[in-house]
Formats: sequence, C-alpha cells, structure tokens
Amino acid sequence: MAELLRVNNLKTYFDRYDGVVKAVDGVSYKVDYGETLAIVGESGSGKTQSVLSLLRLIKGNGRIVDGEAIFEGKDLLKLSKEELRQIRGKDISIVFQDPMTSLNPIMRIGIQIMEPILWHKIMSDKEARERAIELLRVVGIPEYKTRVWDYPFQFSGGMRQRVMIAIALACNPKLVIADEPTTALDVTVRAQILNLLSDMKEEFKTSVIFITHDVTLAMNFADTIMVMYAGKIAEYAPIDKFIRNPLHPYSNGLISSTLDINAKEGTLKPIPGNPPSLVNPPSGCRFHPRCPYAQDICKEVEPEYREVEDGHYVACHLVKGGKFNA
Ligand code: SF4
Repeated sequence: MAELLRVNNLKTYFDRYDGVVKAVDGVSYKVDYGETLAIVGESGSGKTQSVLSLLRLIKGNGRIVDGEAIFEGKDLLKLSKEELRQIRGKDISIVFQDPMTSLNPIMRIGIQIMEPILWHKIMSDKEARERAIELLRVVGIPEYKTRVWDYPFQFSGGMRQRVMIAIALACNPKLVIADEPTTALDVTVRAQILNLLSDMKEEFKTSVIFITHDVTLAMNFADTIMVMYAGKIAEYAPIDKFIRNPLHPYSNGLISSTLDINAKEGTLKPIPGNPPSLVNPPSGCRFHPRCPYAQDICKEVEPEYREVEDGHYVACHLVKGGKFNA
C-alpha cells in the first residue's frame, strides 16, 4: 500500500511550573492508504498528543519542538494556519471521545454535518442537505430523514457518536482519527460503533488512526499496532505479528491486564506501579521501574528502537533475533 502519512521524530513538550513535560519524545510512524493504525497505551503515554500534534491541536502551553508529519507530500507541521484549515475536516477529520462536548448543543444535527461540506465548498447547499441525510442513513440512525433536523440532546450517547462519525465522514476524508471513540459508551453500543467504523473503513476506503487504552480492541480492529509508553514507542508491528509474537514486556503487561470474559479467575495480572512523571522520566528504559525483567543495563542505557523482524520494531535490551530473551 502507498504511504499516506509519515511522522518522523515528533517531539511535543508542555511547559509546566515544575519543568518540561516531554509528552511525545521522538516518535516516528506511518499510515498507508486504507490502513488502520491503533495507538495503544495507558493515560499519559502520549498517544493522543502524538496525533493531535499533527493537526496542531495541542492545547495550553504545549509546543511541537521537533519533527515532521508528511501527509501526501506536505509537512503538516510547516503549513500556514490557513493551509492547515483547508486540510482539517476535509482530508483529515477527528472523532473525539465524548460526543456531547464535541457537538454543538444548539445546532441541529443536519446543519453540523453540512458545516464542513459548505465550509470547504465541496457541494451546494442542496447537495449538502442530501449528503447529511444520506450519511445519517449510512451510520444507522433510525428515521434518519426526520431525525436529521433534531438537536443533539434528542439522541442517545451511542447515536451521538454515530453522528460524530457522520460529521467526520462528511467530506470523504483520507484519514479519520478516532480518539478513544467508544470509551464513554456501554459495552453493547461500543461493539456497534466499532463495527460501524470497520464498515465505514471498507466502504469509504479511509485510513484510520484509532487511539485506545484497550489492547484487545486494537488487536481486533487494527492492521498495525503502535504501543506507547511514557512518550516513546515501545513496540510497533503489523497486527498478525503482534498477536503471534508480542515482544515488549509492556505490551505483554497490557495484554495480561486486559479484561477477557473467558479469563479464569486470578489470571488477570495488572501491571504493577504507575506511569512515570514525564518531567523527570526514569533513566535508561523508562519502563524499568515496572518491568519484571529489568537488569542493570535497563536502568542506565536507553534501549534502541529497532526492527527485530520484518516490519516489527521494539525498544527493549532483551529482544534479540525476533525473540525476548529473559
Ligand atoms: Fe524491561 Fe529492560 Fe526491556 Fe525495558 S529494556 S522493557 S526494563 S527488559
């Protein structure tokens, strides 16, 4: 598959009263046309900031310190605000975690779907209305022809998230970023939304960056997985290789700690400890204070992020020849 996006050595830092938080610290990845990349990690791993940085949506005192993000030959980090506005919502769109805070509560749903289409001058007003109705049908809103002119409060949480997906697809984007899109939903609705995202991907041939803390969701949904820990990439692999051979102790910790309805009592093992402060991250491997296999070298030397088998990258001293050697 041809490459749609390539991010090189991205660094996004936040200035805080007690120092500089290195939220994203030298992250590189790519997304091909039609590919779904899942970015996985605990809170504070840098997964969301590593993607929001692409559209320069970093809030507060955050700043992009270094790196490039080449999207169809253009570096998103070097575009003017106007050039970036032309891409945002049209070529790249975002589905956020909480649709209630992302939707405008006083604007009819149909108008919110039409807004990016009209802003980017993709269709006439009449065509945009028809597209809004069609998209509500596509995302599975019952009685979509009348409901298209309802307000957000008239929809359930799951329906609102479907509306967010309709808005994200309005301009037929090349890349959809879905930031924990199912976290605020109950389990049944969560499965429906994931199925919907999967169907949309097939129908519209859209690339997706799917941000989640749930490694099993990523394993079911993605083509490629990128596991982040403390602002850095711990592991990156095509999903079949990751499922067959997860190598980084943090990846394996996430897998063992994830709720599995078939798991026997006592088999779930939470990762001990908490993610570190990113103002003063641990020396050497940032995961060493929580890693059951940590050795002296892990405390002193940062492990190199390198390819250990075709397309499979890991940052761990103990991974050699495509195997973990404890
Ligand atoms: Fe654990 Fe050492 Fe590998 Fe880090 S480098 S994950 S501390 S074994």
